[in-house]
Amino acid sequence: MKNIFNQSIKLKKLRLVAILALSAFLLPGFMFFDSNIKWRSGPGGFAGIYLQLGDSLSQNKNLVTSLTESISYKNTGAKLQVSLMGENRGDTFPAMDVLGCSEAILNDYRRKGNPVFAEEMDADCTGASCSHIVSCGGVIVSTGIRLNTDVLEGNISSALLHELGHISGLNHCPPGEKNCTQVPENSMMHPFQNTVVSPGVDDVTGLKELYGTLSSEQTAMIAKQEEFKNFADNICNPSPCKLPEEETNPNYRLSQEEKNAIASVLSSIEGDITLYRKEKLFQYYMLRMQGSQDTGVTPEEKLMQNVSEKQQRIAETPTENLVVLRQMLAWQIQERNIVLTELNHEVDKDFLDFTRGEINILIQIRRDMIEEQGRR
Ligand SMILES: [Zn+2]
Repeated sequence: MKNIFNQSIKLKKLRLVAILALSAFLLPGFMFFDSNIKWRSGPGGFAGIYLQLGDSLSQNKNLVTSLTESISYKNTGAKLQVSLMGENRGDTFPAMDVLGCSEAILNDYRRKGNPVFAEEMDADCTGASCSHIVSCGGVIVSTGIRLNTDVLEGNISSALLHELGHISGLNHCPPGEKNCTQVPENSMMHPFQNTVVSPGVDDVTGLKELYGTLSSEQTAMIAKQEEFKNFADNICNPSPCKLPEEETNPNYRLSQEEKNAIASVLSSIEGDITLYRKEKLFQYYMLRMQGSQDTGVTPEEKLMQNVSEKQQRIAETPTENLVVLRQMLAWQIQERNIVLTELNHEVDKDFLDFTRGEINILIQIRRDMIEEQGRR
């Protein structure tokens, strides 16, 4: 087993932040974790790591996306999700600016969502790739990854995957081992591997040991997400779903009132509109994650439930409210679509799938409202 975190030796560290590891890919591990160290889990026992890419790694976005998926819960069954969250958020997520280990600070990090910076500057990194971990009392609060592409001779995928393993809390050797001979060569955590591009059995065992295995409820939640995708793919009647401005049926096109309403909301937003949208998006993203953990009802279930009740609800809605609701829907469809088209680098693939489904549902509800308006 490659998970070295169950080692019994405890570090005699102060309660202040300890930088626990700096490891170089393709070099023998020269530093070993001595304690069971992992990301803090949220209310559902799920740990989420939100990865931000620096400038020069941004061209490898698709690669990083697929690697993060390969070590996340859907693939491994461990209660961990590593999500690529687009560009570096700078001030919002200071990577190394942790001076104390108070609960307030941990809470603050947790609220902001386990920040990770890929390609964080790291003056001590001389190997092909490095990662560091900043932890408080066994909880990782921040990490960074750096790839030295000029030094890196091997496969960039295997180097990145190896470092993603480190920032998830894995290291090279089993507890007590310093020579790594027991680590299978098909493991992403093998210190000399440069061909492994997906986690091996031993890596998965380590991740499950650190974060736990998906519960039956969580497995059900994942199945629900798949159900939702199929549901939303087939919701539009007439098919396919079309954005209001692309509708071919003139009844469904954006009305002048809707256009006015959208213009009015836009003009009421102060400051930079992209910044405003990113802020909203991130709030919404966190809310979605948090919401299902707290209530036990996933947003997917909630939306499907709304659809099942929509005809009755629309029939009971007074006409003046229908007018306003339709305007709100037009606004929401437009804003959600901007997530897909312009801000897709800001959120992970699961969220994009969810947003795509949500847009379809909003489109169909809006159409149903228009039909109802026509009948009255
Ligand atoms: Zn390593």
